[in-house]
Amino acid sequence: MSFRTRLNLFFVLLVVAPLFAVGVVLLRTVDGAAQGRVEAGLAAQGRAVARVGDVFREQAAGVNTRIAKDRELAAGLRSGNVSRVRRRAGQLLSPATDARRLRITIARSGRVVDVGSPTAVLPQRNALVSPTGARLGTIETSVVGPKDLARRLERLTGRDIQVRNGRGRLIGGDASGPEELPPPDRVKSVDGGDFTAVRLRQAGFGSAQDDIVIVAPGGESRASTGERVALAGTLVLFLLLAAVGALAVSRSLQRQVGVLLEGSKRLGDGDFDHEIPRGTGDDEFAQLADGFNAMSRQLRRRLDELEDERVRMRSAIRRIGETFAANLDREGLLEIVVQAAADGVRADAARAVVVAEGREEVAETGSTSRFDVLLRRAAADAAEGREVFVSDGGQHALAVVMDAAGLAGTVVVARDDAPFDRGDAEMVAYLSAQAAVSLENVGRHEEAEREAHTDPLTGLANRRRFNDAVAIAVDAAQRDGRPLSMLVLDLDHFKSVNDEHGHVVGDDVLKATARAMQDAVRGGDVAARIGGEEFAIVMPRSDTEGARMLAERLRTAVERMRVPAPDGQEIRLTTSIGTATGSGTVIDAPALLAAADAALYAAKRGGRNRTVSADETLAPE
Ligand code: GH3
Ligand code: MG
Ligand code: MG
Repeated sequence: MSFRTRLNLFFVLLVVAPLFAVGVVLLRTVDGAAQGRVEAGLAAQGRAVARVGDVFREQAAGVNTRIAKDRELAAGLRSGNVSRVRRRAGQLLSPATDARRLRITIARSGRVVDVGSPTAVLPQRNALVSPTGARLGTIETSVVGPKDLARRLERLTGRDIQVRNGRGRLIGGDASGPEELPPPDRVKSVDGGDFTAVRLRQAGFGSAQDDIVIVAPGGESRASTGERVALAGTLVLFLLLAAVGALAVSRSLQRQVGVLLEGSKRLGDGDFDHEIPRGTGDDEFAQLADGFNAMSRQLRRRLDELEDERVRMRSAIRRIGETFAANLDREGLLEIVVQAAADGVRADAARAVVVAEGREEVAETGSTSRFDVLLRRAAADAAEGREVFVSDGGQHALAVVMDAAGLAGTVVVARDDAPFDRGDAEMVAYLSAQAAVSLENVGRHEEAEREAHTDPLTGLANRRRFNDAVAIAVDAAQRDGRPLSMLVLDLDHFKSVNDEHGHVVGDDVLKATARAMQDAVRGGDVAARIGGEEFAIVMPRSDTEGARMLAERLRTAVERMRVPAPDGQEIRLTTSIGTATGSGTVIDAPALLAAADAALYAAKRGGRNRTVSADETLAPE
């Protein structure tokens, strides 16, 4: 059922139905008032009728007085001659002079003489007393008949009059009146409302009683058409006013509901900036609008929070991506762990400390100086257990041990607003566990890296790393215009060591030579094994003379070298060395190496155990 239908139903139930009921009640009241009017009128007419009755009885009383003086009647009564009394009474019924008489009854000692019209009404009873004062009996006389009485009363009252005898039979007046009679001396609506009537009880002859009934038609007891029209008009007017009012209220309600509906729709469509107009009042609609607006503000806030969260998530993902890109850099890794841990638990400060291969790495974020004391305390406590919660002076910290092969470390986060909980600890523990795995991998990676560039027998740089070192040195030399030297070394008659003492001893000799080289070189130099028993050194910023001095130092070192053999002998040997030096803006690394090689070849040819510089070899040719 739509809102509008409900409102209409509400209007019908609340306005139309009561108004209809009021109409019915009012109509009944108006009818009642009409009935009251009719009843009051009938009562008044009843009193008038009673007075008329009295007039007829007074007339009858006068007649009685005159009859009482009649000698003939008195004589008859005294003598007890009934037929004489009856005859005289008959004569007295139609006098010449005084008022007409309709019925006379005379009673004496239980005997009654009755003459005249049996239907005569309103009799007057008097005692019959002789002139001498003797009581002769009673006389009743009537001077009016029912039809006559009815006619007169109808003229007097303007109403239909019925005269009925004691048994209810109609003896005069209007036969078209009601069938039903009201109770004696009461005004009542009879014949189912067709009439309103009053029944006036009248003493009749002897013990009989007559009734005069005044009749008003039922229609008079109901509201007139004019009254009904006025009433109906008033009700219709009220109905119209109510309808107009209800329509206005309904419109306003529908408008307000529409505004709310529109607001909720826009809210549903995700428009949280839309404010529902609340109007000026403080009614339920205004409160509803306030509620809606509060809800959308709340949602807006939640959305903003979610957006923040998303930004944080993105930056975390970006950081993780950077971790991949960072290519297993230990420092970068720690930075990321610290940042992610701080973001993840909304910490104000975070610090990660890792000790690996004897080196300590520290990464920090946030205001670590403010939390320094607590960060250190938590880290120290955590070293003993897995994770530690520390709170002091309104500051809170959480420390988690980072546990992996070949490293020891802690991740500590701190903030002011609230202590950390288990969820925070799990988050930090997860991050530090992941970081530990990565750091382990960094170690392995570094080792692999080392191995890839190192000669496994001697621990010197291998050919690949030598080439890299040469490239770097060439770049630097070209950049700052300093010379660059290279040295190539080949043991003399090494084959015979192998032949005489075996390869294992030969390897020992190679290791000893490598050690001698390591001892001879300077900080920036890189010594490498570039072949079976051939070695090389790249010497940045070293000129021909510098190269020669190093070569000589090396040559004499090999010369002095004593390598013990299993048979107790001490192996001695010599080495031939070639050097080459380049400088200027264009240095050709392969050419430089080839020149050093050529110098070495010259040294071999020249009798071995000697150093030859490339410029010496070039000079004679
Ligand atoms: P020369 O004075 O002319 O250099 O004489 P040489 O005997 O040293 O001759 P050459 O340089 O050609 O000798 C290379 C020998 O080095 C051959 C091989 O037996 C030996 N050799 C090469 N690599 C290794 C190695 O890794 N271990 C051992 N034990 N011997 C090696
Ligand atoms: Mg050789
Ligand atoms: Mg050799």
